[in-house]
Amino acid sequence: MNRIQWRITWVLSVAAVRLLQELLSGTPVSAGCTVPPASARFLDEGLSEDSRFVSTWCTDTEVSSLWSSDFDIDAEEWRDLGFRNACDLRYPVGRFLSSLFLVRETQRIGALQGGNRKRWWNYLRENEDSGYSPKCDEGGAVQPKAKHFPEPLDSSTNLYMNLFYEHSVPSRAMTLAHEAAHEYEGHTFAFRCDPDSPSCDVEFGEDNANTNGIWFAEDLLRTYETSPPGTGTLLSVRRSTSAEGEVSCRWVPLASDRNRNRLIDESNSILTNRFVYPAEEMVYADAAAVDRAPPPYDFLGHLIGVKLPRRERVS
Ligand SMILES: [Zn+2]
Repeated sequence: MNRIQWRITWVLSVAAVRLLQELLSGTPVSAGCTVPPASARFLDEGLSEDSRFVSTWCTDTEVSSLWSSDFDIDAEEWRDLGFRNACDLRYPVGRFLSSLFLVRETQRIGALQGGNRKRWWNYLRENEDSGYSPKCDEGGAVQPKAKHFPEPLDSSTNLYMNLFYEHSVPSRAMTLAHEAAHEYEGHTFAFRCDPDSPSCDVEFGEDNANTNGIWFAEDLLRTYETSPPGTGTLLSVRRSTSAEGEVSCRWVPLASDRNRNRLIDESNSILTNRFVYPAEEMVYADAAAVDRAPPPYDFLGHLIGVKLPRRERVS
């Protein structure tokens, strides 16, 4: 074996060992999985909302309750990703716990205000009982945020690094609701929807992944902070004074207005592009419009419009 052959053999062996390591342990070993990533990959802090949420949940009791709460999460897999320092937002663990916290709060406050579409926290626990695994981004034209593997495979979800750094806490939580539905319902053929939308479901309103993501977003849009935290009393603050000196008060939404507006945009894009039978957009144009309909809500009359006729097949 000459020098070049040795070199090739060595490179191939290292690659094989790394692949085997990843397959056996699930531990991210790819160079693309370096965390924290380059600063260019972080969503701007005002939008990500991680700092805002971490100050609420990051106590020892909360960390352990969020971390252990019936998800079979493997400490070894998350060890190098912030497992020992869950409140350090440079690493994925804290960012993951922020989104779990938001799902739990949406369920808790929703129950106080008359109920949500689903009890979202319980829903995740029922459908993700083999836990969540971290994965390096694969690159390529369409980089997934997450992938669920249903029984009999595993009943677990892989979470890719871009989810933690390039998506806000509310958007991450919406993804978790989407993925949990894949435990019992897969997507249909992509060509039946918009060709640019690989996650295609048949109809909005059926119990599929896209519907669940939107239902979660819809519930989150009208979830408001309580004061003191953990009670059923909505926190009301002064928001603005009109030119005539009239002070208007309103509740404080759990997700920021910026993110609520983005959730509405994201939901509208899914409603019109990711169903074989496209649905109308949400009836609320923006977060302010949601606030103008005060609780208690009519949970039978939800925020979504009516369905549209079947789309033309994309050839
Ligand atoms: Zn999906």
